[in-house]
Amino acid sequence: MCIIGGGATGMGCALDAQLRGLSTVLLDSGDFVSGASSSSTKLAHGGVRYLQQAVENLDFGQYAMVREALHERIHMLRCAPYLARALELLVPCFSWWELVYFTLGLKVYDLIASADSLFPSRMLSKAESLRRMPSLRSDKLVGAVSYADGQFDDARFGLTLAKTFAEHGGELINYARAIGFGKNESGKLELLEATDQITGERFQVRARAFLNCTGAFADRIRTMANPTLPERLRLSKGAHLLVPLEVIQSGAALLIPKTEDGRVIFATPWLGRLLVGTTDDEAKLSDEMVVTPDEIKFLLKHVNRYLKVDLTSGDVLAAFAGMRPLVKSKAGVSTSKLIRGHEVEVDDVSSLISVLGGKWTTYRAMAEDGINQVQRVLYGKQTACRTREFLLAGAEGFLPGYWEQLAAEYQLSPETAIHLTQKFGMESSKVLELTRHDSQLLKPLYDHGAPICAEVVYVIREEMAQTIEDILLRRLGVQFHGWKEAALAAPVVGQFLAHEFSWTASQTKDAVAAYLHSIAHLFQSAGIEK
Ligand SMILES: Cc1cc2nc3c(=O)[nH]c(=O)nc-3n(C[C@H](O)[C@H](O)[C@H](O)COP(=O)(O)OP(=O)(O)OC[C@H]3O[C@@H](n4cnc5c(N)ncnc54)[C@H](O)[C@@H]3O)c2cc1C
Repeated sequence: MCIIGGGATGMGCALDAQLRGLSTVLLDSGDFVSGASSSSTKLAHGGVRYLQQAVENLDFGQYAMVREALHERIHMLRCAPYLARALELLVPCFSWWELVYFTLGLKVYDLIASADSLFPSRMLSKAESLRRMPSLRSDKLVGAVSYADGQFDDARFGLTLAKTFAEHGGELINYARAIGFGKNESGKLELLEATDQITGERFQVRARAFLNCTGAFADRIRTMANPTLPERLRLSKGAHLLVPLEVIQSGAALLIPKTEDGRVIFATPWLGRLLVGTTDDEAKLSDEMVVTPDEIKFLLKHVNRYLKVDLTSGDVLAAFAGMRPLVKSKAGVSTSKLIRGHEVEVDDVSSLISVLGGKWTTYRAMAEDGINQVQRVLYGKQTACRTREFLLAGAEGFLPGYWEQLAAEYQLSPETAIHLTQKFGMESSKVLELTRHDSQLLKPLYDHGAPICAEVVYVIREEMAQTIEDILLRRLGVQFHGWKEAALAAPVVGQFLAHEFSWTASQTKDAVAAYLHSIAHLFQSAGIEK
C-alpha cells in the first residue's frame, strides 16, 4: 500500500500497516512531520476544554473523543517513555465557585481516564498553589486545581515512528510530492505520480491501496482522486511562543482556563523553555504559517495576567504556528468549537481511503481504524492491530536515569546527556558511538548549547535529514529552543551536510544563506528585533 503524508496520521498508519504484514511505502512532499505534527502544543491529553464543551452542550461526540484520547494518552507514554511523560498542570481559580467547578470537572476527567489516569487531581489552597508556582499572581487568588496530562516531543515522536516503521521493512521517501493518480478501466486508483522535490525527477508508485493522510491538504488529494467529492475540512491556525523557563518558577504547567475568545491557553515547561499557546483562528491553505505580532500580543497578554511578569515581544526566543485539519460539522460553528474527532472515508468511485481530522494523542487509534478499513477493502476482513503495546525505536530498556550512565561513559555534561536521551532514548549510544572514531564530534554545536556535532552526522545518515531546517528544527529541536541559537549553529550544520552529501562550496554557502534568511523572516514576521 502507499501512504501519502508523513505526519502523525501517516506515520501511525504506516507502522500499523507494516506490522500487520502489508508491504507499505510512505511519501511526504516535504520533510517528515513538517506539517501540524511538529507544531502542536505537545500535550498527550483528552482535553479539559473539550470535556467542558461536552458537558455544557450535552455533546456525546466531544465526550467520546475525550474518552478515546484519555485512553490513548497512556500508550504514548508507554511506547516511547523517553519522548512522553506525565505533566502536572495547575488551574488557578479566583473565586470559590471556580475552585469547586474545576475540582469537580477534573474529578470527572480522572474518572473517564479510570485505570489509565496518570495521577489524581486535587484541590490546592492558595498557600499550596503559590508554593507549587510562586510566580502566580496572588491578588484575588483563592486556590488552584492540580491535575495530570501527558507531554511529548511531537517532532521526535513522529520521526521515531518513521524509524520504527523502516526497521520493520517499511519504505520512506521524503521531499516527494504526490501530483496525480493513474486509474484502471473501472476507475480505481492503481498508481501515484510523484515529483522528487530536490532533483525535480518524476516517478510512479504502484500500489493496491492508497491512503490519504495529508492533514490540511487532504481535500486536495481527495479531489485529485475524484473531482466530484465535496470538501470535508475546515482549517484553523494555532500559534505558540517560547520564552525563558524562569518566568514560571515551577516544574508544573499553567492552564489559563478562559481567554477573551473563550479558549484555554497552556504555559508548559518544555525542553528548557516555557511553551505558551495556542491561538485558534480560521485559516486558508495558502496562509503562511508564521507567528504575527498580534498573536504574540494576545498570548503574552494572558500570561502576564496570570503570572507576576511583564513579558514583551523582546522576551520571545522562538515561535511557531501550525494548521489544524478539522472535519467540518455545522456551518457557523467557530473552529475552536469543532470536535477534534477523526473520520475514515472510503471513496467508492476511486477506492482512495482518507483519514481526516483527529489529534496527535489519538494518532494510534486513527491508524488502527484506517488500516482496518484498508484491509476490509483489500481482503474483506481485518487482522489484529499490533501497535497498542508496541515499543518504538529507542524505547526498549529505557530508564529515566540512563543519561547518568552515558554522562559517565563519554564524559558528557549533564545537559548534553539529558538532551541526547530525551531525543534518542537508548539509541543515544549509537549517536555517541560515532565519537569513538572522531572525538571532534563531541563538540557542542554552538557555544553553551547541549546538542553535539555527532547528532548532526547521525541524523543525516540514519534519519534521512536533507536540509539545515530538518536537522535544527525537527531532529535536534534547536530552532524550537531559540532562533538565535539556530542561526549560530547553521554554518556548522551546513559543513556536515556538505561533507555527507559532497556539496560544493557554493551549494553549502547557498544552503546556509537560505536558512539564515528563513530565520530572519521569522523574526521579521513576528515583529521582533533580531
Ligand atoms: C496549533 C496546534 C496545536 C495542537 N496541539 C495538539 C496537542 O497538544 N495535542 C494533540 O493531541 N493534538 C494537537 N494538535 C493536533 C495535531 O497536531 C494534528 O491533529 C496532527 O498533527 C495532524 O497530523 P496529520 O498527519 O494528519 O497532518 P500533518 O502533520 O499536517 O501531516 C500531513 C503531511 O502531508 C504532507 N503532504 C501534504 N500534501 C502532500 C502531497 N501532495 N504529497 C505528499 N505529501 C503531502 C505534508 O507535507 C505533511 O507532512 C494541534 C494542532 C495544531 C495545529
